[in-house]
Amino acid sequence: MSTPLALDRTRRVLAALETPIARAVAAARARDIDEQQVAVARLADLATKLRAAQDLAAYAATAGGIQTDYAGVFAGHVASEIAKLVRDNAAEHGLDASDMPGEEVQAFAREALAEERVRAIGRAVAQAKGRNDAPLDEMLVLARDAARDFTESEVAPNAERIHRHDELVSEEFLQKMAELGYFGLSVPEQYGGVEMGNVAMCITTEELSRGSLAAAGSLITRPEILTKALIAGGTEEQKLEWLPKIAAGELMVGISVTEPDIGSDVAGVKCRAERAIVDGEPGWTITGPKAWCTFAGRADILALLARTDPDMKKGNRGLTLFIVPKPRFLGHDFECTQPGGGKLSGKADATPGYRGMHSFTLNFERWFVPTDNVVGGDDGIGKGFYLQMGGFSAGRLQTAGRACGVAQAALEKTAEYVTDRIQFGKPLIDFQLTQYKLGWMAVQIAAARAMTYSAAAAMDEDERKASSYAAQAKLLACDVAVEVTQTGQLLHGGWGYAEEYPISRYVVDAQVLPIFEGVKPILQLRVVGKALLGT
Ligand SMILES: Cc1cc2nc3c(=O)[nH]c(=O)nc-3n(C[C@H](O)[C@H](O)[C@H](O)COP(=O)(O)OP(=O)(O)OC[C@H]3O[C@@H](n4cnc5c(N)ncnc54)[C@H](O)[C@@H]3O)c2cc1C
Repeated sequence: MSTPLALDRTRRVLAALETPIARAVAAARARDIDEQQVAVARLADLATKLRAAQDLAAYAATAGGIQTDYAGVFAGHVASEIAKLVRDNAAEHGLDASDMPGEEVQAFAREALAEERVRAIGRAVAQAKGRNDAPLDEMLVLARDAARDFTESEVAPNAERIHRHDELVSEEFLQKMAELGYFGLSVPEQYGGVEMGNVAMCITTEELSRGSLAAAGSLITRPEILTKALIAGGTEEQKLEWLPKIAAGELMVGISVTEPDIGSDVAGVKCRAERAIVDGEPGWTITGPKAWCTFAGRADILALLARTDPDMKKGNRGLTLFIVPKPRFLGHDFECTQPGGGKLSGKADATPGYRGMHSFTLNFERWFVPTDNVVGGDDGIGKGFYLQMGGFSAGRLQTAGRACGVAQAALEKTAEYVTDRIQFGKPLIDFQLTQYKLGWMAVQIAAARAMTYSAAAAMDEDERKASSYAAQAKLLACDVAVEVTQTGQLLHGGWGYAEEYPISRYVVDAQVLPIFEGVKPILQLRVVGKALLGT
């Protein structure tokens, strides 16, 4: 048996690891990010992992038990990665041999990463069937239990069918989610929501995503993004008009930013909005294509970013956020017209996973939107980019919660499988390598979860200040979801590739997580990297 790692030792090591990271950050400040993209991406990852290790150690200080082991192992992993950075890439980061972690840190890493320690975690996880019973405050446990019960009774029985037949979530299910207040988790009570705070929102998201990413957890991403944009920049009339309907699930939302030719470079959005009077009503007409608009068929309103100033030199200052009403459609394609001549068509793009809402390519032709639907009114013209980005930072936090849920689902199914499956005369979990892999899956999830909850608490304090923290949580948790689901698939052997086993769904679902709301390289460079470097 390995000797337990004392938490104060873990924390001392983590404190020592701050020095080389701080020195690498200081060195990176001397150059433009685009002249050192590889180094900045690496630094963003490592700084994120270090922060996650600190969050996990802080959580372990109150939770105790196996969380202390998780914290030690993850800290050991970060120490080993930082030592590797100094060994292999010192010059690229303005570091030298003196930055190599000292003997105390290296000895800690050796002990922390000792295979028997990780294998013991794997055995404990298998025994607990991978279940997440991490201690939380009473109110948060209630939120977790409620979402878990709902997931078991309403999400799990339908998740496989929706995925395999590429169905749309049912109206009945949306109604049940609405009754539980899940569309109003971030809507203040005065506007009809249940505003539970970001930690409870993440926990609820995590539990729903454990059942299904697209057919449950992701349903609350869209209202979340628009809610935050409205709270930050909507007029009081707009808050009173839209928020209660969003919270009640009366209006389903789609987010329409991406275009066929414009993805990460959001400031280059070309879809245009032009002032117009249609049938005597003043407003705007929207013209141009949009891409990847998830839930656009069923949605009643789209939060759409359009160019209101045709001068492309204005970049992001020429963009405005609109609330665009449209009729509901339940199929994979649709076409509709307005009495004034506006046209809107949509076609869902087939995807290997993330099924349940369908993601559409759209085409707008002089689609009319009333003046009142400019978020922020006249003051909001030219401010759409900032409002959208504010919405995305809340969305990223929620996506970190979604990623934790998918990874957790993979851990549970894998823990069950390796306990039941017999090869060479014994259960897979009796093999050392299986124990190690399962243990490392659990440690990574614990780190992603601790960082997500911690970023959520920071967002409660100050959303603007914590927005890069939320991006870090998304960066880490999405990577963890990809790695954990793939390891889980491997541990299922050939059956992990069969549609019959949900692990195959978790793998294809997880793969989309590092793509949206800032594809991973953009998050590393232009969000986390930029914030680290203070540029
Ligand atoms: C299933 C799904 C659902 C989605 N849902 C929505 C939605 O509801 N609403 C919405 O608006 N969008 C949605 N998206 C779109 C998503 O947000 C975009 O795909 C994402 O922002 C990336 O844009 P892109 O695909 O155009 O990739 P690009 O911007 O073309 O980037 C591709 C790659 O190029 C490289 N790259 C690009 N720029 C740089 C740079 N500056 N430096 C270094 N490398 C760079 C990176 O490796 C990057 O991964 C969805 C996407 C998917 C797949």
